[in-house]
Amino acid sequence: MDYRGRLILPGLIDGHCHLPQYAATAKDGLELLGWLKTNIFPLERSFHSAPWVRPYARHFFQELLRNGTTTAAIYTSIWKDSTDICFEEALKSGMRVIMGQVMMDRLSYDDVLRRPASQSFGDGDRDSVPGRLSPWDRLKKIIQESEGLCHKWHGKENRLFYAFSPRFGPSCSPALLRQAGRLAKKYSAYIQTHLAENRQEVGVVLKANPQCRSYTDFYHQSGILGPKTLLGHCIWLDGREMDILNKTAGKVIHCPTSNFFLSSGIMDWNGLAGRNIPIALGSDVGAGPELSIWAVMKQALYADKIAGAYHLHEKVDNKRPLTVQGVFYWATLGGAKALGMDNVTGSLEPGKQADFIVADPLAVNPMPGRLSRLAGRSAQSHLARLIYRGGENAVCSVFVKGRKLFEAAPKN
Ligand SMILES: [Zn+2]
Repeated sequence: MDYRGRLILPGLIDGHCHLPQYAATAKDGLELLGWLKTNIFPLERSFHSAPWVRPYARHFFQELLRNGTTTAAIYTSIWKDSTDICFEEALKSGMRVIMGQVMMDRLSYDDVLRRPASQSFGDGDRDSVPGRLSPWDRLKKIIQESEGLCHKWHGKENRLFYAFSPRFGPSCSPALLRQAGRLAKKYSAYIQTHLAENRQEVGVVLKANPQCRSYTDFYHQSGILGPKTLLGHCIWLDGREMDILNKTAGKVIHCPTSNFFLSSGIMDWNGLAGRNIPIALGSDVGAGPELSIWAVMKQALYADKIAGAYHLHEKVDNKRPLTVQGVFYWATLGGAKALGMDNVTGSLEPGKQADFIVADPLAVNPMPGRLSRLAGRSAQSHLARLIYRGGENAVCSVFVKGRKLFEAAPKN
């Protein structure tokens, strides 16, 4: 194939997104807990035994590809049937996917939705609901379903992998986390969850688990932290919590578009990177408004500029500003390392599996035709324009394992 005049780049990696939430993107005006109750739980609850689940999932994978993403770590909903359909569509999509059914044995959809707003994420799940399973039976069902899905899909075509997916601290009992940790070890599967995204969320976790010194300590004591644990957000961590992540080899997924959208905060990447904690990027759709990792890279750079201007984060030696190359590393090889996939993807090297995108540099160049050279032709200037000027609009073709999975319609 002749791609003269085009750029060939490694496929992008989205380390954190929620498939059922895509329709709810850009619903503004609330912070995390209110947003979950108002916009997300009703949608995820309906993502179940409906004829629209399959086309919805198919569209989601096409959208990832259209944006240049070739590998993604994805949450579904608490439903086993629709998670199964999502895996079938992931298989057909040709993409590299880590995915799992959301696990919640406290404060699940119905628990939160039938409470008044003021106490929806209050004291765990202590109400008795007529006709509902006992806490023990509820936990058993969640564990059995997730284990069944893992058994069926983990390692499929060496391209699909299972992630046990306890949603976040407020929705998980220590027993649920222990079981998720045990199963992930048993199958050598992933664990994905959220950590310290929002201050109110941190408060709920500490109140429900007074035996723990911190949110991270709650996960640590429950045995879910390890080298295949992907932790979204990680904003409100102190130095001791970052030390725990370093010791347990956990991986951090930085989700700046989502963090801005829900007013959650700005992650201290220098504090984490200074402790050698690997970082990948996540769109966190639907809190992130776009599936574009280009947009996520741009917001990661802006977040760093704001944090620097306002001195938001702890002082560390050799603190450095984030660069265009640094953020592109997180979206590609660094992200692949965080996900344990750098032996097959993340860079263009002999022996890897040819996950790459073809991009048109003119699509993001401010100047047309012959004038375009005035904007600069170095790799650095091309990369900066892709990141700052909507790289998703420059994606022409996307390949995974050398197979073309997406081709943009020709532009007139
Ligand atoms: Zn998330």
